[in-house]
Amino acid sequence: MLGVARFDMSADVLFANAPAAELPAALARHHLRAEPIVFEVHPLLVETGTHRVLVDPGGTDDPASLRQVLRAAGIDPASIDTVVLTHGHADHYIGCVGAGGGPAFPDARHVMRRVEWDHWLAADNPEPHHAENFLRLLLPLRECFTLLDGESEIVPGIEVIPTPGHSPGHLAVKIGGSAIHVGDVLPSVVYVEHPDWYARFDVWPDQVVDTRRKLLRQIAESNLMVFTHHFEATGAGRVVASADGGWRWVPA
Ligand SMILES: [Zn+2]
Repeated sequence: MLGVARFDMSADVLFANAPAAELPAALARHHLRAEPIVFEVHPLLVETGTHRVLVDPGGTDDPASLRQVLRAAGIDPASIDTVVLTHGHADHYIGCVGAGGGPAFPDARHVMRRVEWDHWLAADNPEPHHAENFLRLLLPLRECFTLLDGESEIVPGIEVIPTPGHSPGHLAVKIGGSAIHVGDVLPSVVYVEHPDWYARFDVWPDQVVDTRRKLLRQIAESNLMVFTHHFEATGAGRVVASADGGWRWVPA
């Protein structure tokens, strides 16, 4: 996982329906301050042996920043052959937009779900600010993208699965049967223990909760290593079943 950026988030945005009496303790369990909550951004680089896959190249709007982080990690940005976007919010894709608006990874195959791509082109998008960013920043890179339908293996051993709710075409990335990148199905560690809470930017809350509960159950049963985009520290860990029928997070 690469640490690229951090930005401030407000608790009443991130946990829109959390009961006021429960939120402070839920945050305190993870040593999180309420205002502001610091949102980290962790692009994930997967080396399969034959492919270099970059998942959610978020970061800052300085197109050089992610490339600098990659170089500092000993990775030649030109060696990345696949870029996967879990969904179309800029904090998950801004790093694939290069200086001058072209692709930051021009030789890479970029993938995203077709329903996600089309969602951001709709005139009546429920998140007009994000849609405006998408049209300005990502639409010009259309030729770099392969749009996926349903579950797909994108390179040998790496598969994407639909996880709708946070956005209609949100996807998660299964890695080699032992790990998963969950994108914004879990935008905060607090959601592992409170899967029924949702954020103000979750446009389809019922679907978010349904998808999250299904994924948490699968992850815990399969004991997968979990990579997240926004958790603290490395952003990686495991989900274990708790005695009360829920789940808890064990950082890696
Ligand atoms: Zn995000």
